[in-house]
Amino acid sequence: MRILFVEDDPIMADSLMRILRQSYYAVTYESDGRRADHLLTVQQFDLVILDMGLPGMEGSEVLRRLRHRNVKVPVLILTARDKVEDRVRGLDFGADDYLAKPFDLPELEARVRALLRRGHSASSSQLKIGELCLDTVGRRATLADESLELSARELTVLEVLMLRVGRVVSKDLLCEQMSNMGEEISVNAIEVYVHRLRKKLEAGHVNIRTLRGLGYMLEKP
Ligand code: CA
Repeated sequence: MRILFVEDDPIMADSLMRILRQSYYAVTYESDGRRADHLLTVQQFDLVILDMGLPGMEGSEVLRRLRHRNVKVPVLILTARDKVEDRVRGLDFGADDYLAKPFDLPELEARVRALLRRGHSASSSQLKIGELCLDTVGRRATLADESLELSARELTVLEVLMLRVGRVVSKDLLCEQMSNMGEEISVNAIEVYVHRLRKKLEAGHVNIRTLRGLGYMLEKP
């Protein structure tokens, strides 16, 4: 799940980023409204968390332009508690939900999960390959209905492979996806995670093929 998080207060941004990445979402951070507006024209996200008071371009304008382009991504706006008009304008411009600052982090997490679920119907947040199931919102995997014990990094590698089942996935792409989650890791580390995943998936006849010099491919059963 890819989240764009736009917030210009560095302290607030820091604590939220930590929470979101702990939940294993791939978070792109931006502090400037104009740059966020540009990012939204060139990249796709599953959720946007948008502060209203921003340098460069107001959050409400970023949102207005986004909806004007007919992009349906769920948007959660962050507003100051005393600025009712901000909230009203945000909702009028097509925000899906709002949180007034200051808010509790568990509440933010709950709203994020709810919006991600709404954006992805229950079936589309579930990836399924044979007996292997991955809930991309709840961040858990099962094999033949048994829960799989996976680390955060293994889960991300698995998600990337499952989204591209039957296609070659390069080690560079896997590294890039990990770095979106705030984890800088090496190609060698990717090899270790794939090795571990293979062991854990063995029982379910789910096979990750190595293509020399190219990368990996999760085979269709
Ligand atoms: Ca602000």
